Amino acid sequence: MKLQPIIGLEIHVQLKTKSKMFCPCDNAGEFAPPNTTICPICTGQPGTLPVMNKQAVEWTIKAGLALNCRIPEYSKFDRKNYFYPDLPKGYQISQYDQPLCQNGFLEIESNGETKKIRILRIHLEEDAAKNFHSTNGQNTLVDYNRAGTPLMEIVTEPDLRTPQDAKTFMQELRLIMKYLDISEADMEKGHMRCDANINLWELDEKGKKIAATPIVEVKNMNSFKALERAMEYEIKRQTKVYQETKKTTKDSPKTTRGWDDVQGVTQEQRTKEEAHDYRYFPEPDLPPLHLSHKGENAIDVEAIGETIPELPQKKRIRFEKEFGISSANIKTLVGDKELSEYAEEVISELREWICTEVASEGTEEEEWKKYGPKAVKTAINWLLNKLTKHLNEQNISIKNCKITPENFAEFIKIVTQNTINSTVAQKVLDIMFMTGKDPTNILEEEDLSGGAKNDELEKIINDIIIKNPEPVANYKKGKTNAIMFLVGQIMKETKGKASPEDIKKMLLEKLK
Ligand code: ZN
Ligand code: MN
Repeated sequence: MKLQPIIGLEIHVQLKTKSKMFCPCDNAGEFAPPNTTICPICTGQPGTLPVMNKQAVEWTIKAGLALNCRIPEYSKFDRKNYFYPDLPKGYQISQYDQPLCQNGFLEIESNGETKKIRILRIHLEEDAAKNFHSTNGQNTLVDYNRAGTPLMEIVTEPDLRTPQDAKTFMQELRLIMKYLDISEADMEKGHMRCDANINLWELDEKGKKIAATPIVEVKNMNSFKALERAMEYEIKRQTKVYQETKKTTKDSPKTTRGWDDVQGVTQEQRTKEEAHDYRYFPEPDLPPLHLSHKGENAIDVEAIGETIPELPQKKRIRFEKEFGISSANIKTLVGDKELSEYAEEVISELREWICTEVASEGTEEEEWKKYGPKAVKTAINWLLNKLTKHLNEQNISIKNCKITPENFAEFIKIVTQNTINSTVAQKVLDIMFMTGKDPTNILEEEDLSGGAKNDELEKIINDIIIKNPEPVANYKKGKTNAIMFLVGQIMKETKGKASPEDIKKMLLEKLK
């Protein structure tokens, strides 16, 4: 029996707007004491009216455009009715049949293949408050700080086929949210939450669907790893159940199961509500949205589209073409927008250097082809292996690093020209990281061409010992004063470049 997993995702993404979705309350309530970033609107007091957050609408459209969605000309909000203590109004303002974004897709890499995952819709809604259940099961406390936070809900078509692909999709989506700069998109912190619908299709030899097992919605997966593990668990569980019972979608309604990350199992929660249970109706307190129009109070879709930066997938392709570095390195660089921008600045500095200083005969393009690859490779290696190590240890982002891209490029110049060895280079980078000084200054000030200097000093000391047999003999007889005479002679020879302490130490070593 061939069973094919079919997975679709529903992802909630918190937008990091300054204020909440329908009121002026601070949207960063997660950092504030409970129930301090609230007002009569987000606590659902009678007689209050919602006012739409324009930024949230624009950012949702921005996300939709980045995910290749169609933006309709009209959109509206609806009430989704249900009772729960974390929903003080008794309904959630959401979107039902006219979401802001429709029919998009996101491409992911799956085993060296590009797979297109269709996106059914993206709508905008408000988040609920947060319930805290006491450990003895006696009390529940509610923190309304989160109530009214703008939330995007992204719904995919059931196009995912493996747990690994589901994880890759989420990671790529998270990265896009980061590039768009509209959400922290941190799964562990609940800024991005994911539910998955999963069932199995039984296929015949030709790959045609014969039957489908009951659909299960899995909730409570709080990390990429949890999503992958939960999907793997469900595939095993549903396979076993199907083999034993042969139950299909016709025999059983959709159920909801919660993922228990500690025990590594999903547990049945309740039968899933259908849309008609919520009695959706248009939100009467908010006007419908007219999108793609210009002028005062406009939601100008075209202008929003122009604010979208180069997205990860495009950037990876360009980096590969322009820089010729390994795909693993490209993945690491592009996985951090700021790091990729830093690398680009460094490389453009190096390019300028090669084309103006190193270049001799050829055109800029020829010179870059000749010397560029080595410089780029050196730069990426130092960036990803050494500099990021410092950044991780100190837990700071590249944006707050004291080393400017110009100084880092200068450092790479020095390294590629082989004027210092790798030990000295590492020391220079360490000092650059601590002080933000430029590498040329560091080399001058810190006297780091240490190895060479010591050889020179040793030679001078040997000379002085040979030329002064009498004081040497006196010292060996116990006249310790004689040593100062020798140090003085050496100081004269080195013209003060070495310190008396260093000279004395080395000299005593020699005289042993
Ligand atoms: Zn409020
Ligand atoms: Mn929702």
